[in-house]
Amino acid sequence: MHLLSSLKIQQAVYRAISEITFNCDPQVHQALSKAMANEHDEIAKDVLNTILTNHSLSPADKIPLCQDTGTTVVFAELGTDLHITDGSLYEAINNAVRQAQQDCPLRASIVNEALFARHNTLDNTPAIIHTEFTAGHALRLVIAQKGGGAENMSFLQMMSPAASSDDIVSYICDGVLAAGSRPCPPLILGIGIGSNFEGVALLAKKAIFEELGRANPDPRYAELEARIKAELNARGCGVQGLGGNNTVLAVHILQAPCHIASLPVAVNLECHAHRHCEVWL
Ligand code: SF4
Repeated sequence: MHLLSSLKIQQAVYRAISEITFNCDPQVHQALSKAMANEHDEIAKDVLNTILTNHSLSPADKIPLCQDTGTTVVFAELGTDLHITDGSLYEAINNAVRQAQQDCPLRASIVNEALFARHNTLDNTPAIIHTEFTAGHALRLVIAQKGGGAENMSFLQMMSPAASSDDIVSYICDGVLAAGSRPCPPLILGIGIGSNFEGVALLAKKAIFEELGRANPDPRYAELEARIKAELNARGCGVQGLGGNNTVLAVHILQAPCHIASLPVAVNLECHAHRHCEVWL
């Protein structure tokens, strides 16, 4: 049995949040630079240029990449031969979120309940944490600061099992285009197909954090990803909804088995800030 102190986890999560708040992921920067090179619209080009300039100003001036510093979302894969000492995984993550909110500093963006009181927790806790158990003695964390604008425009439907891939493409493209500028395009689309109601939402969220622009290993789904990306980029929403040919940077699908009577489809929208990283402990 391997031992890992909760303080080590806290320090690693704190470092990760501090890093992704100010430093754009190099793959995202590269994808946005590529988008600028192939952009047809002058206004969209100008906005892309501003976003890219912001990537160098943010770390230099210690100003977050975006004013919406996001909700902390963590996917944890915990080895069954690993024992966390001096506290729990969830305490360690929430302590890190609290500390990062104070030190960076980050906008306090979380309220204690959604409907009535809506009191700000003032420290960005609680984080949203998804845990899976894996073989071995490692802890893998995917840590993200997920923006509210893109999250709000995400959508899910339990489609008829008779739906075709054309129906799914239309449903997804119409939903993304209806969102317009609100999710802050250019976007990364995480799409879940299959599982059940809660499972498909989780697939969509996980899909966002696949390697940017990777093609699905199954050629049928890779073709679907390419079709959705091409159709969205041809339909003119564009950067920040101002037009042009770069509404999405990448489309990632994850799929899973489902009930014979179901065909769940979920689309989780991720904005161009795409603040995320992976940590191994
Ligand atoms: S959706 Fe993203 S880019 Fe838009 S305000 Fe929120 S964090 Fe910022």
